[in-house]
Amino acid sequence: MSQSLRQRERSRSALIVGLLGGSLLLVALLTFQTHYAVTAHRRMAEEVLRDYASLVADEFIRRGSVEIGYYGFYPLITILSGDAELPDPETLIESDDERVARAAGLARSFFRRDPVTGDLSTTGDALSIAQLAWLSETLSSLEPNENPYAQLYTRIDGEHINVVYSAPTVAGLIQGFVVDNAALPEWLETAANRQPLLPPSLTHGEVGNEHIFVELTTPHGDVLFRQGRYGASSLFVEKPFSTDRPALYGGLNVRATIDPAVTGQLVIGGLPRSRLPVLLALWTLAAVLIVVAILLLRRERALGRLRADFVSRVSHELRTPLTQIRMFAETLLLGRVRNEDETRRSLEVIDKEARRLTHLVENILQFSRGERGAVKLELTLQPIYPLVRELAKDFRPLMKTGRLVISSDVSDEVRVSLDPEAFQQMFVNLLDNAVKYGPEGEDVDVSLNSANGQVVLSVGDRGPGIPAPERDRIWEPYYRARRERDSAIAGTGIGLAVVRELARLHGASADVEERPEGGARFVIRFPRADTGAA
Ligand code: ADP
Repeated sequence: MSQSLRQRERSRSALIVGLLGGSLLLVALLTFQTHYAVTAHRRMAEEVLRDYASLVADEFIRRGSVEIGYYGFYPLITILSGDAELPDPETLIESDDERVARAAGLARSFFRRDPVTGDLSTTGDALSIAQLAWLSETLSSLEPNENPYAQLYTRIDGEHINVVYSAPTVAGLIQGFVVDNAALPEWLETAANRQPLLPPSLTHGEVGNEHIFVELTTPHGDVLFRQGRYGASSLFVEKPFSTDRPALYGGLNVRATIDPAVTGQLVIGGLPRSRLPVLLALWTLAAVLIVVAILLLRRERALGRLRADFVSRVSHELRTPLTQIRMFAETLLLGRVRNEDETRRSLEVIDKEARRLTHLVENILQFSRGERGAVKLELTLQPIYPLVRELAKDFRPLMKTGRLVISSDVSDEVRVSLDPEAFQQMFVNLLDNAVKYGPEGEDVDVSLNSANGQVVLSVGDRGPGIPAPERDRIWEPYYRARRERDSAIAGTGIGLAVVRELARLHGASADVEERPEGGARFVIRFPRADTGAA
């Protein structure tokens, strides 16, 4: 290949590789961009969902604190003001005051702390000694405050104690009640489900409380109330039950979340799923395609180089017989031969070399026709053995020394569908190679056998054979075995490609195997066209 041609090829390859690299970069940029957009969208959608959950928590706190505080604790605390006797929760249920009667269930036991002695008196459920001791000690250290009542929480013996008490008066009298925690859920449920926790105007009426999870817990983690399912959401919002009056419900916490199944109703397009796996798959695909393209490019370049070498190999092969022909023709023309014998030998050489030349040119023509898909065979039923014998006879003079040994188990009548010229091309190519690659002076075996409905023609030599890894590749156009690359044996690399193509057109197969005694054996298997005796 000329220098400029190489340079052009190289710069074309560089351009293509550059373009491929550019595409890869573009794909990477697009991947990044898409991932970034999806992530940003997701973050925004989560933000919106969190805002809705926060709205739910606020609404629950508002309703819950009004329900329990105003309708529950407050009426009970008001009946304790003054010096009246401590009421009993049981009797309060029958109170004439409707509000008191309804709230009565919230109190488990009432207590009063004597401001002078510090003694505690209680009604209702008896408190344990530990509970009494804690209550007594806690109440004694309370500071006065202006809230109508306040709450205390603790855990004693695994039980959650929730106490509501009136603020210490100047006189130091403190009274209150221990809340019956079991009664709380009912109150909270009433509060939560009076209306949807999310305003229907915001959700087109499609997100009811069944899609909302709310939970109220004590500072110790005890659940006082829980409603709804978790869903698969991790977007929880957590808030203190009362932010503006910590003394009232201090320590209670609300957790809220919205079922991800209804995100579509709250956020346009719902919660976007991560596109990362798809993007990664696309990216991998793009990378694989580019690698394939580069491999193809390299193959194409290698083929281009082979083609270029082919031209110089052909010229080289043509030159040898031409030189011989010219030399012997000149000898004859100049009358330099001494006798009849020498004349005859010179003419034989000219004939031999001219035949070689013809075969070589035929091979190239055949190959180029094959490349264009323009090979036309004239298949006719022919007795194969006589044809093999005749071609072998013609070939013998082309061998310097060594014999061409034919063995056959098929009769002269066995016929095969073949094109005699194409058959000759295949057979002579194999014989040529056997002589070319076999050691000088060694025999070449030709055998013709009939087996399994096939007629098998094989040509064996005593040469180096074909290394197993190359047995497939030698049939490829332009391919020459590795050891031939630097050897003195000339060749174009198309002989076997022609053999295989012609064999295929005959409906036959062409293969190579190891000859048991050493060397290579090329085998063509023709389908038997007749049922004549073998
Ligand atoms: P070439 O013109 O190189 O002979 P072929 O297509 O006929 O091209 O053969 C391809 C390659 O196969 C050869 O280069 C040679 O390495 C190997 N080959 C073919 N025939 C034989 C053989 N009989 N013994 C050893 N190697 C062979």
